[in-house]
Amino acid sequence: MRGFLPAMELQRPASLSEALQMLAAHTGRPFAGGTDLMVVYNAGKLRETRFLDIARLPELQGIRETPEYLDLGALCTFTELLAHPAIHRHFPNLVKSAKATGALAIQNRGTLGGNIANASPAADTPPCLLAYGAELELVSPRGTRVVPYELFHQGYKVMDLAADELVTRIRVPKPSGTSVHYFRKVGTRQAQAIAKLSLALVAQVADGCVANLRIGLGAVAPAPVRACHAEAVLQGQPLANLPVAVALEALLADMSPIDDIRSTAHYRSIVTRNLLAQALRTLSATGN
Ligand SMILES: Cc1cc2nc3c(=O)[nH]c(=O)nc-3n(C[C@H](O)[C@H](O)[C@H](O)COP(=O)(O)OP(=O)(O)OC[C@H]3O[C@@H](n4cnc5c(N)ncnc54)[C@H](O)[C@@H]3O)c2cc1C
Repeated sequence: MRGFLPAMELQRPASLSEALQMLAAHTGRPFAGGTDLMVVYNAGKLRETRFLDIARLPELQGIRETPEYLDLGALCTFTELLAHPAIHRHFPNLVKSAKATGALAIQNRGTLGGNIANASPAADTPPCLLAYGAELELVSPRGTRVVPYELFHQGYKVMDLAADELVTRIRVPKPSGTSVHYFRKVGTRQAQAIAKLSLALVAQVADGCVANLRIGLGAVAPAPVRACHAEAVLQGQPLANLPVAVALEALLADMSPIDDIRSTAHYRSIVTRNLLAQALRTLSATGN
């Protein structure tokens, strides 16, 4: 049965501390842009009818820049990300992933924190945040803690996030020196499609070698994952002679793709490796 909209109850806390108290008292799950929640509610897949409207909490808003990193409020929309010059300057993969997320209405309303906490393996920004080495600030009535994003997703829709915690901010360190950024999402169409698979790669280049490489994968495991096996093969290797075949073989150990309505495990496995090969050609080209 479809969700009954008039039964929805949205409570709006006046401050972060009130929001945390309400979360601790089980007032309802956080509702940011609502672009994921409304779909599952409308489809009748949510039992709960009470939600906590966090959309106006100032502590979760805005983009702050320091010399070392960008500090993004969890409520930043994709449109806000796309409008910020520092995102374009330092994090081109985030620009590409925000542009690839839904269409304008979703970009105007959907938030970065919602994209993370919805924990879809196919979400677009998580592979980029993994490749950029992001950290999450989580706040609860018990205090604040900072979690490396790569440790946040622990299985399908399983996160290191307690019921009384909010994702408040996302800190992304600026890549230093010469860096190469690659992101590609493969969907049924160029726009308005959830990813069949995606791959983000960020690498620094020093003395003609790969200095610090990170790869994030989407839709090929129960959660967004880092490709640690492929990374280990490539770390420190000369750009002129990257061990591409060995890295592509190692990438198989980083994935556990499945067949579902969007794609097949076979397609995901082959095309993810094709994307890594393409990313490595881009990386090699910076050395020439
Ligand atoms: C038509 C359409 C197209 C879409 N296309 C794409 C796409 O191409 N790529 C893509 O990645 N996604 C897509 N989405 C999914 C969605 O828009 C994004 O995941 C969006 O970022 C969700 O953000 P939100 O603020 O709307 O989340 P909400 O719906 O408000 O919340 C999602 C979940 O996160 C939790 N949550 C939200 N904020 C916080 C917080 N700060 N702390 C703790 N928990 C929190 C909520 O409780 C809920 O469980 C699409 C959705 C629709 C309807």
